[in-house]
Amino acid sequence: MAANILVVEDEPAIQELLTFNLQQAGHHTLNAASAEQAFGMLRETLPDLILLDWMLPGVSGIEFARRLKADAYTKAIPIIMLTARGEEQDKIVGFDTGADDYITKPFSPRELMARIKAVLRRRAPQMTDDPVETGGLRLDPSSHRVTAGGKPVELGPTEFRLLHFLMTHAERVHSRSQLLDQVWGNQVFVEDRTVDVHIRRLRRALEDTGHEFLIQTVRGSGYRFSEHA
Ligand code: CA
Repeated sequence: MAANILVVEDEPAIQELLTFNLQQAGHHTLNAASAEQAFGMLRETLPDLILLDWMLPGVSGIEFARRLKADAYTKAIPIIMLTARGEEQDKIVGFDTGADDYITKPFSPRELMARIKAVLRRRAPQMTDDPVETGGLRLDPSSHRVTAGGKPVELGPTEFRLLHFLMTHAERVHSRSQLLDQVWGNQVFVEDRTVDVHIRRLRRALEDTGHEFLIQTVRGSGYRFSEHA
């Protein structure tokens, strides 16, 4: 489970500690010392998760979280708030910040990693290494293996990510641009029809075992993974 995590924290020692532990756990990190700096970074790339300090100079952590949740472009990014013990912690529970979780300083690296994993699993199941199994398909992110009806399926890296996303977000319709954001990442500039090309490849790979019906076209809207024809 390698996620891109943005750490917004003004205290260098804590920033360093967080970065060290996140990288040890296999994550990629981006660092900002203030909300203003973080806003600039979000224009370049969207992280999978934000670790956000409550007490920041300038725009506070709470205000930053509110702004992210009010913006369609950033509102889906999970946020874990970092607070000091005591008063802040009580306040944060009372405030409707939109944070997905909060953790109290000082925290153990183990606890932090467990919280991160839980939030990612809830908000972005395709970020975790948990195997997924639906409709006769089994996809295992850690071994990078897919089987259909017990038989191995060969997939390219893009088809693998695409299938992983669709399986972890089954029974929902995804537009081409949503799939581009989720599977290709928003920093890559590719055309909508690229999605169609990879969907076609994915279906072809599933044809041998008759599982291509799982990848459904929803006319005028996009694609959906569904066990129901
Ligand atoms: Ca601080």
